[in-house]
Amino acid sequence: MTASAATPTPMPQIGDKRLSHRPGNESEIATEVLVVGGGMVGMAMAAALAGAGIPTVLAEAEKLPDLTADTFDGRSSAIAYGSQQVLNGIGAWDYMEAEAEPIRDIRVSDGAWHMTGASPFFVHYHFADLPAGAVPSTGKAGQPPFGWIIENRAVRRGLLRRLGECPALTHLPGSSVRDIDFGEKGSRAHLADGRVVSARLIIAADGRQSSVRRMAGIGARTLGYAHAAIVCTATHELPHHGVAHEHFLPVGPFAMLPMTDDVDAAGQRRHRSSIVWTEDERIIPMLLQLSDADLGREIERRFGPTLGHITPIGPRFTYPLKLVLADTYVRDGLALAGDAAHGMHPIAGQGFNMGVRDVAALAEKLVDAHRLGLDLGSMAVLEGYARWRRFDNLMMVAVTDGLTRLFSNDFPPLRLVRDLGFFLFNKTMPLKRIAMRHAMGVVGDLPRLVRGERL
Ligand SMILES: Cc1cc2nc3c(=O)[nH]c(=O)nc-3n(C[C@H](O)[C@H](O)[C@H](O)COP(=O)(O)OP(=O)(O)OC[C@H]3O[C@@H](n4cnc5c(N)ncnc54)[C@H](O)[C@@H]3O)c2cc1C
Repeated sequence: MTASAATPTPMPQIGDKRLSHRPGNESEIATEVLVVGGGMVGMAMAAALAGAGIPTVLAEAEKLPDLTADTFDGRSSAIAYGSQQVLNGIGAWDYMEAEAEPIRDIRVSDGAWHMTGASPFFVHYHFADLPAGAVPSTGKAGQPPFGWIIENRAVRRGLLRRLGECPALTHLPGSSVRDIDFGEKGSRAHLADGRVVSARLIIAADGRQSSVRRMAGIGARTLGYAHAAIVCTATHELPHHGVAHEHFLPVGPFAMLPMTDDVDAAGQRRHRSSIVWTEDERIIPMLLQLSDADLGREIERRFGPTLGHITPIGPRFTYPLKLVLADTYVRDGLALAGDAAHGMHPIAGQGFNMGVRDVAALAEKLVDAHRLGLDLGSMAVLEGYARWRRFDNLMMVAVTDGLTRLFSNDFPPLRLVRDLGFFLFNKTMPLKRIAMRHAMGVVGDLPRLVRGERL
């Protein structure tokens, strides 16, 4: 690629990843696809595309060591079976599997009996309740688990290792996209350090506050919740046996998610769970200041004695909760994916899973188009992605919002109806099996990667 100071700047050759130095100390990178945002969704997207040989640039605002630091993201994610198939298909799962705890059992209950008066009603999903063949085979013996709990930083580490193996990728950590000139034959993205990336297609994976969405003039509906999430890791006396617990408390859901055991500084093996605790925003600052012992007592008050004595360890994090739904997912030369397209309440642990399904669907459309020599930024290619993903995401946003409102309410008649619903649902195996397959992410028109096939 040659240097150019002409205006307008000619589009560099597609696929040419070399840097060109332009007057004004700018340098330019030409590629087919620019993914903006190297969170978990952006990294998975880049791994899928570059792994299939499509020249891809991944620009991420944060620097590399920060992305996997203990203080960066304290969350663990429930990764559904279908999402694991995708992570496996893009070559990243092997790098995180050792840190993933299988979910074999899910117990959902209304209220904390020791806090608010017992609700004897709960829903209990056990992985063995699914008949053989209900989900695509993993190739391993036995029924697969519902999913896995894995620390986000382990997911990031695994994806980063996979990205390092993709020659078609140019990874630009520490590079924030400041501005984009959208053109008919491609776009030019200006990075904060002065470099420019020109690409036929830009994929916005830059999270709920997506600045690319705003630059493209795409609006979004947003809805705040009155509560926020406290997230921390805790050790407990008794093993969790792969059970994920969710208690619907009046202020919002409280989840204990099973993690892999680890070994402490004294060489002792510890049982661990990840806590996602929704709480009134006004009392969160006070809770975050409690000593480990006092916070442990507050956790036990909400969770009960099932896991014995509970002690929080490591840093504590808090996340504001907000629903975001982009007005459209695509325009000429641009596609939105992950939280940039749809941010939802974590009540069902589905935000990242929906983003992974975006990755599987968009990568399939783009890889097929690339093989046919089609223009990756054309609406003919992108509209198929938007149609495929919009309904699924909309349904999940609606379900998570509806569940949040239904359960964040302690009005006695409503609670009675809710508990009766729990009781009947728990007794109706066909309904439970449908819900289990939804939770595993194996329902609907599934992309090849989710079905365990190659891209
Ligand atoms: C408390 C909590 C618990 C959750 N639990 C689960 C769960 O169990 N299971 C599940 O599936 N989901 C869960 N989620 C949701 C999940 O975490 C998100 O859906 C997911 O992290 C979204 O990933 P993303 O890559 O789309 O966005 P983000 O993680 O927000 O990443 C966006 C990236 O873009 C970068 N960026 C932003 N602007 C720019 C720019 N201009 N230039 C370059 N880079 C930029 C940012 O630095 C960031 O790294 C949970 C969410 C919360 C809040």
